[in-house]
Amino acid sequence: MFNDKKFKYRMFYLVGVIFVVLLINYFTTNLSTKQIPYNEFLTLLQENKVEKVVLQRDRILIKAKEDTEYANKALYTGNLRDPNLVNILNDAKVEFNADVPNNSPILDIVLTWVIPLFIFMMLGRLIFGRIDKKMGGGVMSFGKNTAKLYAENETGKTFRDVAGQEEAKESLVEIVDFLHNPQKYAEIGAKLPKGALLVGPPGTGKTLLAKAVAGEAKVPFFSMSGSDFVEMFVGMGASRVRDLFRQAEEKAPCIIFIDEIDAIGKSRDGALQGNDEREQTLNQLLSEMDGFDPSKGVVILAATNRPEVLDKALLRPGRFDRRVIVDRPDLKGRESILRVHVKDVKLGDDVDISSLAKATPGAVGADLANIVNEAALGAVKNNRKVVIQEDLEEAVEVIIAGKEKKDRIMSDKEKRTVAFHEVGHALVAAMLNNTDPVHKITIVPRTMGALGYTMQLPTEEKYLVSKEEMIDQITVMLGGRAAEEVEFNMISTGASNDIERATQTARSMVTIYGMTDRFDMMALESISNRYLDGRPVQNCSAETAAMIDNETLSIIKTCHEKAIEILKENKELLIKISEFLIDKETLTGEEFMNMINEYREKNNLPRIGKEENHKDTKVEPTVIEEEPIKPITD
Ligand code: ADP
Ligand code: MG
Ligand code: ZN
Repeated sequence: MFNDKKFKYRMFYLVGVIFVVLLINYFTTNLSTKQIPYNEFLTLLQENKVEKVVLQRDRILIKAKEDTEYANKALYTGNLRDPNLVNILNDAKVEFNADVPNNSPILDIVLTWVIPLFIFMMLGRLIFGRIDKKMGGGVMSFGKNTAKLYAENETGKTFRDVAGQEEAKESLVEIVDFLHNPQKYAEIGAKLPKGALLVGPPGTGKTLLAKAVAGEAKVPFFSMSGSDFVEMFVGMGASRVRDLFRQAEEKAPCIIFIDEIDAIGKSRDGALQGNDEREQTLNQLLSEMDGFDPSKGVVILAATNRPEVLDKALLRPGRFDRRVIVDRPDLKGRESILRVHVKDVKLGDDVDISSLAKATPGAVGADLANIVNEAALGAVKNNRKVVIQEDLEEAVEVIIAGKEKKDRIMSDKEKRTVAFHEVGHALVAAMLNNTDPVHKITIVPRTMGALGYTMQLPTEEKYLVSKEEMIDQITVMLGGRAAEEVEFNMISTGASNDIERATQTARSMVTIYGMTDRFDMMALESISNRYLDGRPVQNCSAETAAMIDNETLSIIKTCHEKAIEILKENKELLIKISEFLIDKETLTGEEFMNMINEYREKNNLPRIGKEENHKDTKVEPTVIEEEPIKPITD
C-alpha cells in the first residue's frame, strides 16, 4: 500500500540513525573510557609504555604508546593527587599537563541534545504521519475532506477484474483514453463528458468499475461516499466538496468517485421541508461541476442504485450526462464472474463453473464472490486441500437461500411466462412503424423484485411525440399480456405495471394532448406545478369524466387487439425467440433483429430495418419493467 511504502522508508531512516548513534557510542566508549587501577598506571610508567598524561580534577587520562597493547585506547585512572607523581612523570620523560581538553563541547552538545531531539522528532513525525493517514484529512487539517488518495498501485484493479459487464466497460473505455491523454482531446477541441453515472443494483460492481477505470488510466483515484458529506456539522459537506475538487485539480489527471451519490443528490423538491445541509452540499457539488475545466483531465464518476430519486439538476448536460448501466449479470456474465473469483482458489477436478452459473439466476457479482469464498471456507472446515463442487453447491444454497426469501427465484413455469411476456413486448415493438428499436430483452431482473424487462433505445433525442407514436407505445406496452394470451391462453398478474402505464398514456392522449375527435383540442386536465412533477387535476364535469373513461377504454381496446393480431401472425417467431430467451436469459437488440430477419427471409418476407444506433448515449431508454407477481391474499 501507498502508506506502508512511506512507513517503510521512514523505518529504514530511523534504523539508520540509531545505527550511527550506536557506532559513535561504541567508539567513544572504547577510545576514551577504559579504567585501570592506579598501581597499573604506575607499572605502565615504569615500563615506559606511556606517551602522554593529562591531569584532570578527578581523573588522569593516559595515552599509551603506539607499540603497546593499549595503543588506540584512551585509558584513565582516578586522580589520587599523589604528590610524587610529577617527579615520577618527569623521570619517565612523559609529556604531561593539567589542561582540561574535555570531550569537545560541540560533540557533547550533539550527543546529549541534538541526536535525542532528532530521534524524537523522527518518532513524532512517524506517529503523527500514521494517524494523519488513518484519519484521511489529518489531525492538523480538521475540516478538510476525507477523500482518500489512492495511487495507481492502490486501486490495483483493471477491467480484467470486472467480468460480465462488457457494455459498461465499453462505454468507459473512452474515459480511460481521455485520462491517458487529455491533450489529444483538447487539441481537437473535443469535450468529454465531465461525469458519468454508474447505475445498477447493489453488488453489481459499480465501485469496482470505478476503481478499474482509475487503474486502467493509471491516475489517482479520489473516492468519497455520499454519506461522508453529510455526517458532520452544518456547512461541512459543502466545504468538503470544495476541498475535494481543489485537491483533485492539483493531482489532475485523476478521477473523483462519489459512491452512493443519492445520499446527497436526492431530489430537492421531494420533501416539503428540505434538508438544508444536504441542499447546500448538493449546490456546492453542482457549482463545482460547472466550474471546473474538463480539459485538465478530471473525470467525475458517481454510483447509485436509485437513479430515480436523483435531483434532475445532477443529470443535466455538463454534469452527469452519461449513464452507464451496470446490470445484474446474465448466465454468461455470471459464469465469467465466477471464473474471475475462482482464480485465487484451488479447485478440484469435478468443479463445473457453468452449472453453478445456471444455478444462480439473479445473483450479482458480490453474491458470486461471496459464494466462492464461502465454498473455500467450507473446504477448509472439511480439511480438504481443494474446493470441490459440493462445497460450491452448498455455498450457493447458503447465499442464495438467504436472498430467496426476499427475492424469490422464479420457477420454470414463471420463467416461461415472463420470457413470452417480454418477447411479446419486443416483437410488437419490432413490427410497428413508430416505435424505438429494441435494445435489450432479458428475464434477469433489473431491480429487486422485478421479473424482467425490455429496453428500447430511441435513435435520437425526441421532444415531440406524435399521435401515431403514442398509439404504438401503448400497443407495445400491451404486447406483453397479449403474448401470454396468445401462447398460454391464460392471464397472469404480471402485466399490472404495463396496464397502468398504458392507461395513463391513453388517458393523457384524451385529456392533455387533444388527440381525440370527440374532445378535439379541449384541455380536460391541467398539471399543477409542472416543474415539480405535479399530479394532473381534472377540470371537467362528471359526465365528461365518464366520456373520458370511454375514450380511454376504446384506445386501449384497439391497441390490445392490434397487439394480439401481430402476435398471432408471428406466433411461430414468438415461440422461437421466447425459447431462445429462456435458454440465454438475455438477448441483445442485434440478436433479436437477426432472429426476426432470418425468419422473415425464410418466409420470403421483406426485412425489417430497425437498426440500433449505439452512438448517441444521451437518449433516455424506455424500459418496460415487469412488476413482481403480488398475490392478493398476503
Ligand atoms: P457495488 O458498488 O455495485 O455495490 P461493488 O463494486 O462494491 O458493488 O462489488 C462488491 C464486490 O463484488 C467486488 O469487490 C467484487 O469482488 C465483486 N464483484 C461485483 N461485481 C463484479 C464483477 N462484475 N466482476 C467481478 N467481481 C465482481
Ligand atoms: Mg458500491
Ligand atoms: Zn410487461
